[in-house]
Amino acid sequence: MEYTSREVYEYISKKANDPIVEWKKCRVSWQEFAIYQSDIDFYSKMNLVFEVDEWFVNEFLEKNTDIKKYFEYKDGKLEIKMPTPTLCPEERERRRFSFMNEQCLYKRDCDHSWKLLIWIFSPDKPYIVYDQDFWRTFNRDPYKIRDNKNNFDDNISDILLHTPIANRAVLNCENSDYTNQVRESRNSYMCFNCIEIEDCLYVYKGVSYNKNCVDCDNVDHCSLCYESINLKNCMSLFYCQNCSDCSDSWYLINCIGCHDCFNCNNIENKSYCINNKQYTKEEYNEKISDLKEENHWIITYLWFTQKDCDLSFWDSLVWCKNTIFSSELTNCENVKYSCDVMGMKNCYDTRWINAQFCLESYLAGEDYHCGFLFESRSNVNSRYCIYCHNSQNLFWCVWLKNKEYCIYNRQYTKEEYNKIVPEIIAQMIRNKQRWEFFNPKLAFYGYNETMAMEKYPLEKEQAIKMWYKWSDYESPTPKVEKFVPWESLPKVWCRTIQEKKPDFLKKILNYAIVCEVSKKPFRLVQQEIDFYVKYNLPLPTKHPEIRHKERFLKKDSGTIFLVNCDSCWKNMLSVHKPGPGKNVLCEKCYYNDK
Ligand SMILES: [Zn+2]
Repeated sequence: MEYTSREVYEYISKKANDPIVEWKKCRVSWQEFAIYQSDIDFYSKMNLVFEVDEWFVNEFLEKNTDIKKYFEYKDGKLEIKMPTPTLCPEERERRRFSFMNEQCLYKRDCDHSWKLLIWIFSPDKPYIVYDQDFWRTFNRDPYKIRDNKNNFDDNISDILLHTPIANRAVLNCENSDYTNQVRESRNSYMCFNCIEIEDCLYVYKGVSYNKNCVDCDNVDHCSLCYESINLKNCMSLFYCQNCSDCSDSWYLINCIGCHDCFNCNNIENKSYCINNKQYTKEEYNEKISDLKEENHWIITYLWFTQKDCDLSFWDSLVWCKNTIFSSELTNCENVKYSCDVMGMKNCYDTRWINAQFCLESYLAGEDYHCGFLFESRSNVNSRYCIYCHNSQNLFWCVWLKNKEYCIYNRQYTKEEYNKIVPEIIAQMIRNKQRWEFFNPKLAFYGYNETMAMEKYPLEKEQAIKMWYKWSDYESPTPKVEKFVPWESLPKVWCRTIQEKKPDFLKKILNYAIVCEVSKKPFRLVQQEIDFYVKYNLPLPTKHPEIRHKERFLKKDSGTIFLVNCDSCWKNMLSVHKPGPGKNVLCEKCYYNDK
């Protein structure tokens, strides 16, 4: 991971006609980052306003003369100003991501029924964790702290330790125990962050409907795809990346509307091509049978992929306006430093759907004028909430539903709330507990279990130095008949194994394969073996975690670079850094090249 460079900030300022008003130095990474005029405008709209009487305000301002620049009193309203951030965009994202474990699963007993279940919490975690079905129907009586320690983190940590949490986030799924962040799905195994998947294995981010896909990342309306990334409306693709409307092909990159092609890139509406060369159907079928799996090909990338966007600078954007430093966005306007977002307007540092005027939030949905939310939906005017829904005017609350005017889960009147919250904020400013996402020490997981580790990898010492937690918990080694080193797996592909040694494929279900890279043992499931045999694929030699990581690294780095087009040398921004085996072209050259 690299930090955004000064030249990129300046280039965007020029192109978007948005002056840089201040250069700040991140207090964690020491990297410089720009504050644009548009940022100042946005943050001023995030100010909190409280109706209070003059008598209160006079006393309040007198107590806080040293920090009075943060407050303004006008027409019976006390306005608390939202300062610009002290962390660079990358460090802000690292912190939000450190709260999210999507893929580390463990076995642990339910703290209510004592049933052994699949969890996203390792057994050594101190939280009360309930089976999610019970958790949803459980009559919630939110825990209130006994004494206010005047330390916001300690208060919230106390509440978190007394608040039941669900074992996984899975809704309306059937026979899909080993999954997380999955909805409306069936018969799937080790799938994460998916909606409507069926018979899928090891799929990360399967959106809309996907069936029978194995080892894929970011697939949408696909079936029978294997070891592929960023596919839309595809069928029977193997080892492919960035394709749409393609079928029955191997090793395609950046292709549209192709079928029966092998090892091609940047072609459209073609069939029977090998290495971008046209063959007849008969020639193709004859050649394809002895083609090797090796593939050395110079890949040409388009600077960005955008569809119907205006003044937007990043990759994977659809119908967006004024969106900068954000990727994988659909139908968004004035969104910055966000990823994986749909239908948001005027949001910064946010992930999820349909929020407006929100900042620094992870999984915010349909929230309005909120900040610092974690997994909270349909809230208004709230700050620092974890698992809170359908509420308004909450401050430092956990697991509340249909509430208003609560602080640390305790109910107040509107008048009390309007006086107490400014006092707490003044305390936060004075303690240098700035307006930032939750302190890393409040995260539920070790840094190494979270999405932060994937995008911003750290060694244990580095993570701890940066105040992140670390998990040393090791799941017990699987109880199997035998551990098979990856080297001793049959060198032939699965259809041949099936013909020659059908017993082996039955026996291997009771074995664990020792991963080629991490040496961590992993097991296969029947569904998986059936897939490998049906499409004649090799048995995997790497642990699913390593396979996922390798696919993740093939995607763009999440950093934006100022580069030159490899054809016309025009200056442009791109998420792709040109390098060996990789050409990056501007839009004009890319389409002329075809
Ligand atoms: Zn060009």
